[in-house]
Amino acid sequence: MTTPSLDFDPSAIKLPQGHFIGGAYYQIDEAPIAVHRPSDGRLLGYVPDGSAQTVDYAVSNALQAWKTSGWGTRSPRERARVLNRWAQLIDEHVVGLAQLEAVSSTRPVAEAYASDVPFTAEAIRFFAELADKLGGDIAATRHGSLGFVASEPYGVIGAITPWNFPLSMCSWKCGPALAAGNAVVLKASEMTPFSTLRLAELAIEAGMPPGIFNVVNGRGATTGSAITRHPDISKVSFTGSTRTGAAIMSEAAFHGTKPVTLELGGKSPQLVFAQVPDLAHTARCVARGFTANGGQACVAGTRLIVHKRIAEALIDAVQRELVDIAPGAMWSSQTRYSPIISGAQAKRIETLVEESRAQGAEVLCGGGFFEGTEGGWFYRPTLLAKVTDDTPAVREELFGPVLTVQTFDDEEEGIALAAHPTYGLAAGVHTRDIGQAMRAMRRIAAGTVWINRYGRSGDMIIPTGGFKQSGIGKDLGRQALEASMRHKSVLIDFDFDIA
Ligand code: NAD
Repeated sequence: MTTPSLDFDPSAIKLPQGHFIGGAYYQIDEAPIAVHRPSDGRLLGYVPDGSAQTVDYAVSNALQAWKTSGWGTRSPRERARVLNRWAQLIDEHVVGLAQLEAVSSTRPVAEAYASDVPFTAEAIRFFAELADKLGGDIAATRHGSLGFVASEPYGVIGAITPWNFPLSMCSWKCGPALAAGNAVVLKASEMTPFSTLRLAELAIEAGMPPGIFNVVNGRGATTGSAITRHPDISKVSFTGSTRTGAAIMSEAAFHGTKPVTLELGGKSPQLVFAQVPDLAHTARCVARGFTANGGQACVAGTRLIVHKRIAEALIDAVQRELVDIAPGAMWSSQTRYSPIISGAQAKRIETLVEESRAQGAEVLCGGGFFEGTEGGWFYRPTLLAKVTDDTPAVREELFGPVLTVQTFDDEEEGIALAAHPTYGLAAGVHTRDIGQAMRAMRRIAAGTVWINRYGRSGDMIIPTGGFKQSGIGKDLGRQALEASMRHKSVLIDFDFDIA
């Protein structure tokens, strides 16, 4: 199959407008939020800041659709048919979706085309396939009774997603929620709202009942908070920063004690022992682990912890991997490197690197922005040595392409350095010694451990989620579908003569 031309003119892209409620676009006069193109900082368009009334309108549409369309009560295989058609349409519209994703986000169009869009379709397909595979339990009761656990959808689930992988994040939230028979009201990030609206449009084309999947745009403090607080939202599934996750958890506690799934921030280590299977491969894993999407991935491996014996060779090899990294517009099919999402976020990275330097960190490479990128925020891949656990760049999730380097003498010290006081999202372990890999895997408190690789695969059966302040619950895997249902215990007596 030949690859279509992906290059496009960003000013010619037609942006979906408003909210998507009850199966159609919904426009109402609300405060506009300006959306900028991170590639060059120019104004792209506007998105409305959805009010509590708009959220209420979306939730009542969702509840009504859920009660009347039969989405939650029909056979899971019927839901799966709709979800599969949706996935198929996403695949068919891969070019348009990739371009829509690339114009407002940090995703290069070629990557959006090759991975974000296909992975979005694949995640929905995965949950469609799983829809009728999870049964309940039959309980061990006395013979005159039958006890079982029945799984049911919650009703309307609220979903809130971040800006870093808008399409994928939408599918991780909607796939399980919809497969389980819920309706969804989702708020995408106000910085990257457009591709999610288009997904909602395609869901209707696939045959999803209007009102089952709704998108309300707006800021966190207005729209996001109104979703969390709404009395008819029975569960909130969130991906974003640890600070926002805490705010949502607290609001959910006060407004209905509703359950939450929280996928939050990270500061993940790449622990490299003295003997690795292939140093060049390890260097590629390390380089890719902190530069993919400009370092703006929750699981970015931003702390290199390397045995002293191979530290110099590995750092050299990692730096060689960075040589060809160059900035470029997200609408050029040649671009592979991502800009920082916003000026504010770029400033934060700059400040944390400067503070780290002031505390003794040595910049081995990078340490500033690429020149001549016309208003965009392209930060150079940066390596910081001579850091301690107290260095700001080690302590904080700075969400940019910055790797700190710490060295160790023995296994015990390496594992101790890999631990982070706050986060526990992911970790990489690189070693030829399987025993050493298993010992490290057991002792590192992280929701995911990758051994001799770094990064997720297309295996949607493997769940993702964090320990400690990196989150609660899982996206993907069976666990995400189970968490989209509530479980009812049933006990029936049928033989009254048995004691
Ligand atoms: P963010 O927390 O600022 O915003 C995330 C979403 O929450 C946005 O839609 C935002 O509008 C909304 N929001 C903000 N305040 C809110 C409030 N009070 N109530 C309800 N909603 C609110 O995060 P971000 O900057 O968009 O994304 C980057 C963060 O996301 C990083 O910390 C990253 O690690 C994390 N992330 C985690 C995962 C994971 O799977 N663990 C995946 C991707 C991103």
